[in-house]
Amino acid sequence: MTDTLCFRNIGQLVQADASTQPGIRLRKHCALLVEDGRVHKILKESEIKSSKSYARVIDCQGQAVVPGFVDCHTHLIYAGERKDEMVDRMRGVTYMEILDNGGGILNTVKATSRATEKDLFDAARKRMKRMMALGTTAFEIKSGYGLNLKSEMKMLTVGKKLRTSLKVPVTLTYLGAHTVPAGENREEYLEEIIENLPRFRDLADGVDIFCEKDVFTVADLRRLFLQAKLLGFDLRAHVEEFSHQGGCAEAAKLGALSCDHLEHATPVDIHAMRKANTTAVLMPGVTLFLGGEKHPLVHSMLDAGVTLALATDCNPGSSPTYNMQTVLTLAASMYRLTPEQALAAGTYGAAKALGGEKDYGGLLPRQRADFLILKTNDYRDMFYYFGENFVDATYTAGKKFKAPKDPAL
Ligand SMILES: [Zn+2]
Repeated sequence: MTDTLCFRNIGQLVQADASTQPGIRLRKHCALLVEDGRVHKILKESEIKSSKSYARVIDCQGQAVVPGFVDCHTHLIYAGERKDEMVDRMRGVTYMEILDNGGGILNTVKATSRATEKDLFDAARKRMKRMMALGTTAFEIKSGYGLNLKSEMKMLTVGKKLRTSLKVPVTLTYLGAHTVPAGENREEYLEEIIENLPRFRDLADGVDIFCEKDVFTVADLRRLFLQAKLLGFDLRAHVEEFSHQGGCAEAAKLGALSCDHLEHATPVDIHAMRKANTTAVLMPGVTLFLGGEKHPLVHSMLDAGVTLALATDCNPGSSPTYNMQTVLTLAASMYRLTPEQALAAGTYGAAKALGGEKDYGGLLPRQRADFLILKTNDYRDMFYYFGENFVDATYTAGKKFKAPKDPAL
């Protein structure tokens, strides 16, 4: 008795493969075989055996199949919303002014610190399910709304439970250095983070820092990363978002897996990322939501051979979106990426940013069978008829995800 699943009558099958340019391989009229939750083989329709040879045959009705999205930068564990702050921004107050006045991240920190572990878990699980219904099949989640040992550990414990509960790849990142807690001294707070790093070794895969004017400096980044590296953490950094500080080049030199945001990154930074094989994580949803005009030097990055990744940055302040389809569309339109380039960045590139590209993100043989059946026979419709949800079904490890019905998630 075989346990092979056969997804047949696929009109268009997309694989994300870095060995091709622009990173996408497209096949037509084919079938996908899945064994033990992994991609086994891609066949021509004519090569399909009799239905008895498979545990189940699923007719994809000529629709397009693409790899599941990898959301490689999120802050999806939080309590509270920040809609009032959105309205303030629309009246002309800037994001950094809100933070300077004790609002912004610090509002979410208060709400998240008060919330119980169960409240945080339930809310984040709902969010992730909604994201999965929209096509995300692997996640990165950061702490950073605790800003003290106990609350940061609470957030990452929730992250570990989410990984077990939803059975999808979840990379956890300790972001104690998200901002300086109200009334505390920056240097002392950073010292505390560094001292406590060993206690996060079982809770987080990586360490992150927000390197920005009036937040943490490049020297802070260096101190934190040197210690984190010694302890075996992966490194990733929020850098060059609202101003140029030099954190990107420094993070790349120290071997960061990803540098994220990069609106103000320069050619020197791009060169450093290329040299270190650091992935550039771009989040156009933030630019859209905050009404920014500055875009990263995306084409210089591509020309230099830097791998691009896309992510939602899902968080209650600067990017309250769950939808990677929106992010891909924005990247295509705002950065002038082709649909192939945007899709490769939201799948393979994002998996590489998490160090998971061998295991998922490409729909390649032996990788996890994480994929989406789209409501169309041409995946470019996702970019063309922007704003619609084109995901008909999400599969993780070959199993169909049961999308939640609750519209009020
Ligand atoms: Zn972020």
